[in-house]
Amino acid sequence: MVKNMFHTSLSNGMSYAWLDHLSNKIGGRLSGSANAQKAVEYTQAELVKLGLDKVWLQPVMVPKWVRGEKESGHYSSQGKNYPLNICALGGSVGTPIEGITGSVVEVQGLEELIALGEEKVTGKIIFFNRPMEQTLIHTFEAYGGCVDQRYSGAMEAGKLGAIGVVIRSMNLRLDDLPHTGSMTYGELPDHQRIPSAAISTNDAEKLSKHLKEDASLQLTFKQNCQHFDDVESYNVIGEITGSEFPNEFIIVGGHLDSWDLGDGSHDDGAGVVQSMEVLRLMKLNQQKTKRSIRVVLFMNEENGLRGGNKYAEVAKMKNEVHIMALESDSGGFTPRGFSIDCSDEEFEQIKGWETLFKPYLIHYFEKGGTGADIGPLKTDDMVMAGLRPDSQRYFDHHHASNDTFDAVNKRELELGAATMASLIYLYDKYGTKKRTTLPIKN
Ligand SMILES: [Zn+2]
Repeated sequence: MVKNMFHTSLSNGMSYAWLDHLSNKIGGRLSGSANAQKAVEYTQAELVKLGLDKVWLQPVMVPKWVRGEKESGHYSSQGKNYPLNICALGGSVGTPIEGITGSVVEVQGLEELIALGEEKVTGKIIFFNRPMEQTLIHTFEAYGGCVDQRYSGAMEAGKLGAIGVVIRSMNLRLDDLPHTGSMTYGELPDHQRIPSAAISTNDAEKLSKHLKEDASLQLTFKQNCQHFDDVESYNVIGEITGSEFPNEFIIVGGHLDSWDLGDGSHDDGAGVVQSMEVLRLMKLNQQKTKRSIRVVLFMNEENGLRGGNKYAEVAKMKNEVHIMALESDSGGFTPRGFSIDCSDEEFEQIKGWETLFKPYLIHYFEKGGTGADIGPLKTDDMVMAGLRPDSQRYFDHHHASNDTFDAVNKRELELGAATMASLIYLYDKYGTKKRTTLPIKN
């Protein structure tokens, strides 16, 4: 059956065609946007075409933030102007129409900023320039080691009286693309909410070098992004109802929303179409599943996690027993395996299936974190899993204008879908040691 899953995905898959539509016909799918709504309607219609037992929309209120006109920025040093490749961080306030201008204080992180104190920060633009750690093989660890600057930088700098924040993009390579992403002001009053933006890694290097030669250089940036009231959107859900244990749910998903600079092909169009493909492959390759298998296309992972929270809230309200959740939200690159969060006993059982994946060069079955959208659903009894594709190129594209369809390889995407379908198949059929020894039949 595992062989059939790979065979079908590679020879008769739909994931790439679906991604083509999401990316090229619809495009970036920021929460609350018209494109996000189009993506809801498109994926719902495609799931209906698969002939699933149920397809429905789950309403959820999402934040609406709009970038506005393209941002601009530059710095001036010794009579010369140096343009910046810059973009607003998601959720940031805008600047006044003329922009903001100030001298720059470079820091390597939040601790260094806080240690400087109000006196050295008031009236300044804070430049967070700690790079991602190049030597880490798991690049998500490098991201995790840096992203606090992007997420909390403006909040901490605002408390100390800074007028703005620029952040080195979360990118392992040097290039000219700014990478957006979420940020927070926490509970700060409006007057302490300062604009925050990302600049490209090349610009971060250049700015840092010039600051060493000219500590009084002046930086200017403009952005007219805006927050609106929350709007209604949807999680898109499809289900194959289980033939033996219809009240036990296994879910597979990714997030339908994306950032707006690219078309969100890797993050997370890939996870969306792979998850849809899992149900298609299940249907094409076997008549029935024991448990109910759901595909959940979550809305608003990027700037709120409202979809993930809503799905878990409704599942709890309905007393639905979820036994496993699998998420794909690490890009559409060559699958390496899974990171799995469950009991030791259950992990041993799943690890035992590793040999079935070896022919596809998939061998990474390790305990670890899984996915943001499925997180709120987690209980001690569940198996949580995340597809782990090769991550070396992911942060070249993540949240930037080059997260586009052409950056996704058809075969790599299809291999990922088959990898996910195989794990779901095995788990549905054999459960875990714990599950198969319990008298849980209805
Ligand atoms: Zn994502």
